[in-house]
Amino acid sequence: MAEPLKLESQGADCNIPNACERVVPTWLIVLDNAPTAVLFLLGTAIIWNLHSILSLVFLAYCCLSIVLFWKLICPWCHHFGTTGCPCGYSRIAARLFKKKTGKEFRRVFRRNIVVVFPCWFLPLAAGIYLLWTDYSRALLFLLLAFCFVGFVLIPAISKFVGCRSCEIKDQCPWMS
Ligand code: SF4
Repeated sequence: MAEPLKLESQGADCNIPNACERVVPTWLIVLDNAPTAVLFLLGTAIIWNLHSILSLVFLAYCCLSIVLFWKLICPWCHHFGTTGCPCGYSRIAARLFKKKTGKEFRRVFRRNIVVVFPCWFLPLAAGIYLLWTDYSRALLFLLLAFCFVGFVLIPAISKFVGCRSCEIKDQCPWMS
C-alpha cells in the first residue's frame, strides 16, 4: 500500500476555504466510475460489429483518454492530490503528473475535455451507420443501452451524486 498522499493545501490558491477536506467514500468512486467502464465496453461491442480490430483500437483509446484526462485536466483542478475528487482520479493523477497553476480550471477543462469525446461519439456514429446499413434488433438495443449510459446515467450520477456536495461545483464547467 503506497504511503497515503499528504493532503496539500490545495485550497490555498483557490481562495475557497476547506475546498479539499471532503473525503469521497469508495462506494461513490465506484458508482462514479462503473458506468464509464460499462460505456467503454458497450461502445467496443457496437464498433465490433463494424470491424473487430477497430473495436480493440477504440477500447485502447478509451483507456488512453482517461490518462489524458489525468494529464490535461486534473493537474489544474482544486481537488488535485486530495480526497475530494468525486471519481477518485485526483490521487492517481497526482502520482503521475505535477500540479499546474496559472490558468483557470474552467478554461482548461473546456479546452481539453475533447479528449473523451471520441469515447461517446464514435460508437454513436458507428451504431447509427450500422442500423442504417444493416439493421438488427440486437444492435438497436446495444445502441440504446449505450446512449442511456452515456447521455443519461453518467451525467445524472455526476449531477445528483458525485458532484452534488462538491464545494466548488459552481466553479466547475461540468456542473455549471
Ligand atoms: S474533480 Fe475532476 S478534474 Fe478534479 S481531480 Fe477529480 S476528476 Fe480531476
